Amino acid sequence: MSGDHTSAVIAEQVRHVEALLEERGLLDDGEIDRRIDEFLAGGTPANGARITARAWTDPGFRERLLADANAAIRELGLSMAGALQEQRLKVVANSEREHHVVVCTLCSCYPIALLGPSPAWYKSEAYRSRVVRDPRGVLQEFGLTLPLETRITVWDASAESRYMVLPRQPEGTDGMSEEELASLVTRKGLIGTAVV
Ligand code: FE
Repeated sequence: MSGDHTSAVIAEQVRHVEALLEERGLLDDGEIDRRIDEFLAGGTPANGARITARAWTDPGFRERLLADANAAIRELGLSMAGALQEQRLKVVANSEREHHVVVCTLCSCYPIALLGPSPAWYKSEAYRSRVVRDPRGVLQEFGLTLPLETRITVWDASAESRYMVLPRQPEGTDGMSEEELASLVTRKGLIGTAVV
């Protein structure tokens, strides 16, 4: 069954439940749409960049972020509480020895609150199937050639669990402010298909 077909079936079921709840007066007209719109409006890669810059400049925050990301991002006024339920967030840190990359092999699960809507390539069948089998080759196509000694770990997101990559701080940026550091971070860096 293709992801698109699954989504269509789920969307149909959701509309049905929504109509029943509205009919019985348990839900105002359009309440779910409003909640989803609010959720999407707050999602932007600037949030992931802020988290990254804070982790680069505050070792205590970095430690808390890697241990319990849901709790740590609340310190920055951010949350993974979606329209319906809070998604579990795990932040995985790149190092000299290890590089992380995120995918959803099943469909397109993605930390929208921290990265905004996902790019088309993230949802593509080609990326989803190939990054698991040949991460090094796929990263190379993104222009990211990692040393052979660097271990690559692929994290498969799901409806309950989302992942964000914490890129390595570029060399020569030690004196920069948190805002300047945040401006270096890209959406691809937070997915793991770029260095920052
Ligand atoms: Fe998914």
